[in-house]
Amino acid sequence: MGSIRLENVSKSFGEAQVISALDLDIEDGAFVVFVGPSGCGKSTLLRLIAGLEDVSGGRILIDGKDVTTTPPARRRLAMVFQSYALYPHMSVRGNIAFPLKMAGAGREEIERKVKDAARILNLEEYLDRKPRQLSGGQRQRVAIGRAIVREPTAFLFDEPLSNLDAALRVAMRLEITQLHQKLKRTMIYVTHDQVEAMTMADKIVVLNGGRIEQVGSPLELYRNPRNLFVAGFIGSPR
Ligand code: ADP
Ligand code: MG
Repeated sequence: MGSIRLENVSKSFGEAQVISALDLDIEDGAFVVFVGPSGCGKSTLLRLIAGLEDVSGGRILIDGKDVTTTPPARRRLAMVFQSYALYPHMSVRGNIAFPLKMAGAGREEIERKVKDAARILNLEEYLDRKPRQLSGGQRQRVAIGRAIVREPTAFLFDEPLSNLDAALRVAMRLEITQLHQKLKRTMIYVTHDQVEAMTMADKIVVLNGGRIEQVGSPLELYRNPRNLFVAGFIGSPR
């Protein structure tokens, strides 16, 4: 549950090809980081996987099933953005419960799942607060909570920490990797930050101009960068 496969996936906006003939296999339960400079296509690739954009060519498979034309709501993936997109007038409880309410879940189920998510994310004391009464890190946790209650087969994070200050970013990195260990779900994490990639990933996918430069573990990329771009980007001595 939670393997993702891209076959020859491409995406153009008008004349501009943003993703070019990309193949990638993500194993169930992996923590995969997409890293690369701004504009290289990281967000677009994530949005293609989520179904928020249609591919221009190729196929996307989740757990071996072709979902290329499956609408986002039926892909069972949860996306977490850098702008938390919380509802300001709702409490933390209301924000986390929202996707369950939309899906027509019953009151008991909602209560139980919100409580579980709050416990996992250390938000139990904050359930009655409004987003404006929370710190940046707490808001990001609420956004993650809203993803958790949907019990997705995979989580997709798009630079979730880029609005946080440096110290908080380090703490949240650790929280997200711990969350991965607890939930054992596939996570794809997009960042332009090499340090985040190196410290969080099982597997790093280095993107450049809509193509994959290299895929490997942090150590593999550090020891054996395939080219100067990877070496320069990962910061290894080659
Ligand atoms: P990244 O997330 O790596 O910074 P993006 O995936 O956001 O990169 O963008 C990759 C390229 O695609 C950029 O050149 C961007 O301008 C272009 N792009 C992204 N979304 C659209 C869109 N909806 N329409 C036209 N061009 C887009
Ligand atoms: Mg982006």
